[in-house]
Amino acid sequence: MKLLFIIIPFLISCVSTSTNQIVNQVDTLTSVTDTIPFGARKILSVYSNLGLKYVDNYIVFPDGDKIIYDDCREKSFIEKLDDCDIEDMFSFEYDTILQKPEYLNDCGRGRSEQFYKKMYGNSAAEVSKNLVKVNWFGQQIPITKINGVADTLKVIAKELSEKTHLKKYLEKASSFYWRQVRGAKRQSAHSYGIAIDINVSYSSYWLWQNKGKSETDFIIYVNKIPLEIVKVFEKHGFIWGGRWYHFDTMHFEYRPELL
Ligand SMILES: [Zn+2]
Repeated sequence: MKLLFIIIPFLISCVSTSTNQIVNQVDTLTSVTDTIPFGARKILSVYSNLGLKYVDNYIVFPDGDKIIYDDCREKSFIEKLDDCDIEDMFSFEYDTILQKPEYLNDCGRGRSEQFYKKMYGNSAAEVSKNLVKVNWFGQQIPITKINGVADTLKVIAKELSEKTHLKKYLEKASSFYWRQVRGAKRQSAHSYGIAIDINVSYSSYWLWQNKGKSETDFIIYVNKIPLEIVKVFEKHGFIWGGRWYHFDTMHFEYRPELL
């Protein structure tokens, strides 16, 4: 009987789940049934305002809707981006130390579409209902108020506005746009109102600098955005596209689960 209690949770949450991704909750009375994978634990913790639960390999919302955590499929690098479940998002590590991203480390570039659509809206109209304007270096840019993202961006704007030498990088920004990623089928983070692109004049994008290259080719890294800007965003839960092997240095998005 005791053995069953040990085996069942592992079967439920995929045989492939590696043991180092399994984190025991503090409660020891029901220790085995309370075992939650690392990524799910991060999601529950950073979005604690949403009242989410982890049950049998699903992230469950208070209204009963549930999003699969791990679809248990072995995936190639491309599949992890195009057909990403929540567990896949945590198969990369967001590295704030290295100046250049490692080969194919694209932490955050893949998103479980089901999960972000459930949080922020399933269509342009649905997302738009929760967009509010944020003052951003002479502009008003629409950002979602869900999860406090707009308020967080206001704090970032205030902090960055004290560093006047950075203004030229930050102005002429863009944010909400319901669209798919250039050249791919997956939804862009801009669709959810959680992303901002700063001044394109100082930006570098992997395909502009590496014309004709495919997703698995070796590419040259280019960046002109000061890390001073990046650090402020990261401190407040935004990841930077300049940390991706497939870099997009104008791009920041609210993904506190990866930091
Ligand atoms: Zn962007």
